Amino acid sequence: MHWKRAYRMLTFVNFLAMGLGIAWGIYAVIQPNMLITCLAVTVLIMAALMFRLIAVGKVKLASYTFISVVFMILCLTAKYLGILHQFFLPLAVCSFLLMRNEILSMKHGIPLLCLAAFGWYCCAPLDLAGRYVLPLTIREPALWFNQIFAGLAAYVCMHLAYEDVLEKNIMEIELRDALLNREFLIFYQPQVSKTAEIIGVEALLRWQHPTRGLVPPNDFIPIAEGSGLMIPIGEWILRAACEQLKKWHLVPGFEAISIAVNVSASQFAEEQFVSKVLKVVKETGIEPSLLKIELTESMLVANIDAIIEKMALLKDRGIRFSLDDFGTGFSSLSYLRQLPLDQIKVDQSFVRNLLKTPADAAVTKTIIALGNDLDLDVIAEGVETELHRDALVSMGCHHFQGYYFSRPIIVADFELLVLSTREKTKSTR
Ligand code: C2E
Ligand code: CA
Ligand code: CA
Repeated sequence: MHWKRAYRMLTFVNFLAMGLGIAWGIYAVIQPNMLITCLAVTVLIMAALMFRLIAVGKVKLASYTFISVVFMILCLTAKYLGILHQFFLPLAVCSFLLMRNEILSMKHGIPLLCLAAFGWYCCAPLDLAGRYVLPLTIREPALWFNQIFAGLAAYVCMHLAYEDVLEKNIMEIELRDALLNREFLIFYQPQVSKTAEIIGVEALLRWQHPTRGLVPPNDFIPIAEGSGLMIPIGEWILRAACEQLKKWHLVPGFEAISIAVNVSASQFAEEQFVSKVLKVVKETGIEPSLLKIELTESMLVANIDAIIEKMALLKDRGIRFSLDDFGTGFSSLSYLRQLPLDQIKVDQSFVRNLLKTPADAAVTKTIIALGNDLDLDVIAEGVETELHRDALVSMGCHHFQGYYFSRPIIVADFELLVLSTREKTKSTR
């Protein structure tokens, strides 16, 4: 939901920037002014790039591009033309929403920088003899127009930011109750071998909200992480997954199915993480090698020695580790060798473009070869078609996960899927 609002905010401010770019362009044609021509061209190129980034879902990159380009343009126009500094105000509110999930220095630093620039350019004396300065007949109405327009833009941005904060607060309160009200569900997505045998599942969290319906994890996990709720939620998932393994242990044909559990950064960083996992494993009496913990590359940036130590303690007890989203973040190969991993997961962004983009095919091939050379199991996620699967097999990948095999499903459907897959395999033999 935050991303939807960020998307709306970016679309709004981009249309605004485009409108100003066109107005400047027209002015520059009537009254040649080198600086305004350059600014109009820059704004229009930025707007086109932004629409492209928004369309392909790169909201974060679009946010950073927009804020930095507009900030620079506003500094230039405020200094040399004596106009537009009023737009630092809507930019501050806009960046407050766009930077909400970023690190503290960005989250507060960027809006504060915009406000400081606003204050600075309001007070700074204007060099009216400057080369590019606009004639008074243009500057005066432009100042009026900007004052009103920037005020309106600030109002719309504030409204969107307010709705976003309100929604976040409501969700935080609802998340606190969700655990108690047993509103969380686990969906299971099969992991399949080269011979189409289901060898395991990934446990994927869902929130069955009383009014919103089934909420996907990306809509609430960032809020749960930010409010410390991801630790109890993560513990619940871990226990539920181990309970499921315990049940399958007694069902013929299901005893060897493994469960991969995603662990969040805050959960893994917790001092008692190792003891908590071992406690659940002991209490449920599961075979530890059937539990696979998925860590993401982005979690490995800080204090790698402590991470390796925690992983080694769990690995000694037989628990396995998979490195999720491999290739998208930090990928120091020396660390990869040191980490006690069992598996790497080729990120779905590479798999999705495998057949379209030679660069993604090359990255996928390299990751698979790297995994095989390091004696790690390699699983590709986001496998959506038979062509994807075949291409991956030809690159040496033996395990797959994706919509081609099954979407994430509830446990009862998963059990039926396992049984029907076995039936099919038997009848084709
Ligand atoms: P992830 O760990 O990378 O999980 C894979 C995501 O890709 C899942 O989205 C899955 O439904 C989706 N997916 C699988 N196959 C395909 C495919 O063929 N095509 C496409 N387009 N998508 C596919 P989901 O369930 O929405 O989860 C999103 C993310 O939320 C997960 O990404 C993971 O980072 C996080 N998450 C989910 N469950 C948990 C959890 O229990 N704990 C934590 N900490 N994070 C979780
Ligand atoms: Ca995962
Ligand atoms: Ca992944």
